[in-house]
Amino acid sequence: MLTVPETHNRRRAALRSRLHDGQLDALLVTNLLNVRYLTGFTGSNAALLVAAADSADDESGTLFCTDGRYDTQSDQQVPDLRRLIDRPCDIALAGAAASAGHRRLGFESHHVTVDGLVALTEAAPGCELVRAGRLVEQLRMIKDDAEVEALRMACAAADAALADLLEQGGLSPGRTELDVARDLEGRMRDHGAAGPAFESIVATGSHSAVPHHRPTPTVLTAGDLVKLDFGALVDGYHSDMTRTMVIGEPAGWQRELYELVATAQAAGRAALRPGAEVHDVDAAARTVIEDAGFGEHFVHGLGHGVGLEIHEAPMLAAVGEGKLSAGMTVTVEPGVYLAGRGGVRIEDTLVVRDEAPELLTLTTKQLIVV
Ligand code: ZN
Ligand code: ZN
Repeated sequence: MLTVPETHNRRRAALRSRLHDGQLDALLVTNLLNVRYLTGFTGSNAALLVAAADSADDESGTLFCTDGRYDTQSDQQVPDLRRLIDRPCDIALAGAAASAGHRRLGFESHHVTVDGLVALTEAAPGCELVRAGRLVEQLRMIKDDAEVEALRMACAAADAALADLLEQGGLSPGRTELDVARDLEGRMRDHGAAGPAFESIVATGSHSAVPHHRPTPTVLTAGDLVKLDFGALVDGYHSDMTRTMVIGEPAGWQRELYELVATAQAAGRAALRPGAEVHDVDAAARTVIEDAGFGEHFVHGLGHGVGLEIHEAPMLAAVGEGKLSAGMTVTVEPGVYLAGRGGVRIEDTLVVRDEAPELLTLTTKQLIVV
């Protein structure tokens, strides 16, 4: 693991200062990814109670809970916190919050079900349960060094897998989309990935015009555009990259489409800077495609945050709200899709920096002719 207890301690300190801002006595964290982010625990069942404290380093009110299957694992992964072995974890911690005298107890209202809220209310007599929303997700938007390093490794595994695939004839005519997807995923594992970050998209010929095509037994054929959208999972972090290639000599329309999307993608990347409105970043790329008369064929947002989830905040979209900050990790992925003919998407994962954005997916964006 790249993360160390101090990293998690720092994240919890940042959360505690938000609890003060929200006038919460404590927050019950039930989203397992958020528990992982705050503690390093990678098991399948856990919750965390984080109490506001007078000083940033006072963790006496923080209590981690998992069940008996994870006693040993949590002892190793969460050595720095008081632990409770009980289940259901959320109910046990709600009871602990009531016993500790917390009056205003925040809960992750985007995650707890209606039935779950009823159960928490019964388990925490004397507590006022307060909708806290996405407090931890807001922290997660800005990646710390350990997270960027994991993302860098995930992107490197995907880059290396694609390089190997191309070098070893992995996109030869006659192979199927399914062959290529399996091949790519195996190669990412060879380069250190725990697995694919999501179901790989391999789309050849007219399938490349379907933004989220699932691989089929269709064979790659000379003259096809082939779109590969894939990523690697490393230490729980996801990479995300799309490259579109041509098998054999590209036709004029294929080159023109590629150049258009590449120009739009470069404009989107150039618009990534702290303080930029997310919808302005989307517009920077979209305008290029609209001005060329293809606006109606760019049918999705420009990009999304990426980290412990493949799609997370912030969303870079025309309807998006909010501003970028340094340390956010986002994709930039414009596409133009011509139904029945083919489509081109080019996608990178980048870190927003004060200077220029840091590119994590390093595969060339020159048109690759296979
Ligand atoms: Zn993608
Ligand atoms: Zn993406």
